[in-house]
Amino acid sequence: MSEVVTVADIFGKNVFNESVMRDRLPKSVFRKLKKTIEDGTELDASIADVVAHAMKDWAIERGATHYTHWFQPLTGVTAEKHDSFISAPSAEGKVIMEFSGKELIKGEPDASSFPSGGLRSTFEARGYTAWDCTSPAFLREDALGVTLCIPTAFCSYKGEALDQKTPLLRSMQAIDHESLRILRLFGNTTAKRVTPSVGPEQEYFLVDRAKYLQRKDLIYTGRTLFGAMPPKGQELDDHYFGTIRERIGAYMKDINNELWKLGVSAKTQHNEVAPAQHELAPIYDQANLAVDHNQMVMETMKKIAPHHGLTCLLHEKPFAGVNGSGKHNNWSLTSDDGVNMLNPGDTPHENIQFLLVLGCILKAVDIHADLLRESASDVGNDHRLGANEAPPAIISVFLGEQLEDVIEQLGSTGEATHSKKGGTLKTGVATLPDLFKDATDRNRTSPFAFTGNKFEFRMVGSSDSIAAPNVVLNTIVAEAFKEAADELEKADDFDAAVHDLIKKLLAEHRRIVFNGNGYSDAWVEEAERRGLPNIKCMVDAIPSLTTPKAVKLFEEFKVFTKAELESRVEIEYEAYSKAINIEARTMIDMAGKQIIPAVIKYTTALATSMNSVMSACPDADVSVQKELLEETSALLSDTQVALAKLIDVTAEAAGVAEAEKQARTCHEVVVPAMDALRTPVDKLEMIVDKELWPMPSYGDLIFEV
Ligand code: ADP
Ligand code: MG
Repeated sequence: MSEVVTVADIFGKNVFNESVMRDRLPKSVFRKLKKTIEDGTELDASIADVVAHAMKDWAIERGATHYTHWFQPLTGVTAEKHDSFISAPSAEGKVIMEFSGKELIKGEPDASSFPSGGLRSTFEARGYTAWDCTSPAFLREDALGVTLCIPTAFCSYKGEALDQKTPLLRSMQAIDHESLRILRLFGNTTAKRVTPSVGPEQEYFLVDRAKYLQRKDLIYTGRTLFGAMPPKGQELDDHYFGTIRERIGAYMKDINNELWKLGVSAKTQHNEVAPAQHELAPIYDQANLAVDHNQMVMETMKKIAPHHGLTCLLHEKPFAGVNGSGKHNNWSLTSDDGVNMLNPGDTPHENIQFLLVLGCILKAVDIHADLLRESASDVGNDHRLGANEAPPAIISVFLGEQLEDVIEQLGSTGEATHSKKGGTLKTGVATLPDLFKDATDRNRTSPFAFTGNKFEFRMVGSSDSIAAPNVVLNTIVAEAFKEAADELEKADDFDAAVHDLIKKLLAEHRRIVFNGNGYSDAWVEEAERRGLPNIKCMVDAIPSLTTPKAVKLFEEFKVFTKAELESRVEIEYEAYSKAINIEARTMIDMAGKQIIPAVIKYTTALATSMNSVMSACPDADVSVQKELLEETSALLSDTQVALAKLIDVTAEAAGVAEAEKQARTCHEVVVPAMDALRTPVDKLEMIVDKELWPMPSYGDLIFEV
């Protein structure tokens, strides 16, 4: 029998983790590094050389030839520049492998081509990457060989954040500090640190690579820009949790192995609602690691797919008419002494600390709903949010029956005296055990749902980094905690003060709680009555970043300066315009060079057939050909008109100089022109001979994987 390799054998094999460091670093160095990692103390630069040396030896023993500072600029993807470990050859022509502390701690990629939103002029091209020792270095094995990847933050010459990680780390400091104040108020003297825990559930599509390569839209934009619905969609719900097919299973197995080696605890996998859609969820981890790991998950998913003749689509809406993909961001707060501040226990009505935390979170989400909405905006997500499949674009909080009832009691009598219990679930089958039932059912339509001991923010797009939503969550909750702590620390009678504060928070922010169906039109109206914002698209969401309220919040907790926020606004408008411009130009290309020529071939074939039938048999009935020819020709001419219009408006939008105005033109003028071109083309796809249609259909793509 061949030797069995267990998960334990491979898990973390490619990570320079704590146990490797303990083995390889001198005790004093190990202790200093661990202190920085665990307590957030400043890194002692004098240990860098020793750590770099150990890291290099470890990496080279495993076949590494290169190292890279791995960072997350505001392009949405990760970036890296590789250097080999070799030094200049000696006189005898020998190379030695070198890696200094300086090279570990600081990198200096020429950063002028990364988005900076005006933070850097072109002549100030310097950008720095700085080692983030709280996220362990790892080895990536691929066609390039083995590369040592060092997670880093990316800043400008003046120290402004140009990436996702820097503000995230700043926001983690803020929530740590304010959470500890809350814990102290309730008598906890032991906790030294509170960290946000994050578990992102990643959805994705897999399509056949050969078919993918026949679709310019998938290649250039990650989503289909044309495509008629096949006879079957997702209406049978036969894909959701269905048996995983062999080819997909082989892919998932590879992904798991790769991720486990990288120390990513890939845990759950299943088929999702749409045909060809799947999900992977890891076990939650501290926020910074979860963000890095999610990037590694996305990279690995894309990289492994071609090994199986597949392409992985991370776009939020690869196919119209079936569900798109999101990324549920599960979030809670955990102290180093093991307290989950979002755990209500069995009797939430007695858990005063929990009720205060809950009240603060409701306040944070209510006041900063616009920022949360913004943090989940990306170009692809505009197709999901509010489109009756993903959560609606309106932010509300689902608490479930049990907590809703506690709030109700507090609101009506000022006291909460009991908590609803879950009880048992009876199946009615004698041989099945009775199951313990949760006190609360789930609600799939809520964008921000309490699920037992964590909140699940469900708006995030599948292709997006989860950094921004967690930056916002950490910071807005830090603010609410701070305001509560400021008040309670001064109180003479703590018990009375906390009781009053909880009641006040719950009463004032109750409007954000909604337990009903978030997809219904009635909710849209109700939300408007409650004064909740309904921000329908990315372009409308972006300005939330620089409202006076947002600037005050982020500056107070030193997460973003006003200039950094302004730069992000600029970058997001630009990202939007660029994406729409690429989509429009792809449609123009496909319609002009592939679709219209194919339709002309078809109409010519119809006309030729009519003529030859009639000359062979003048009495034959050619009404079918004639009707088809008329219908096709009419649609062809609609297509040509819509194409001409799209060409015009795309050029018009490209000529708009100011970023916001350009993004608005794209949203308001170009997107509708794209939709107008798609309509006749999708109708034509249903008429034209399949042999002549120049690309695989939806059916080919999502049912034949
Ligand atoms: P659910 O079915 O409630 O969505 P799962 O067990 O499927 O829960 O978990 C979904 C994700 O939430 C996983 O990544 C999981 O590790 C993560 N998660 C579980 N508990 C917590 C927690 N306390 N804080 C943050 N994330 C959590
Ligand atoms: Mg979930």
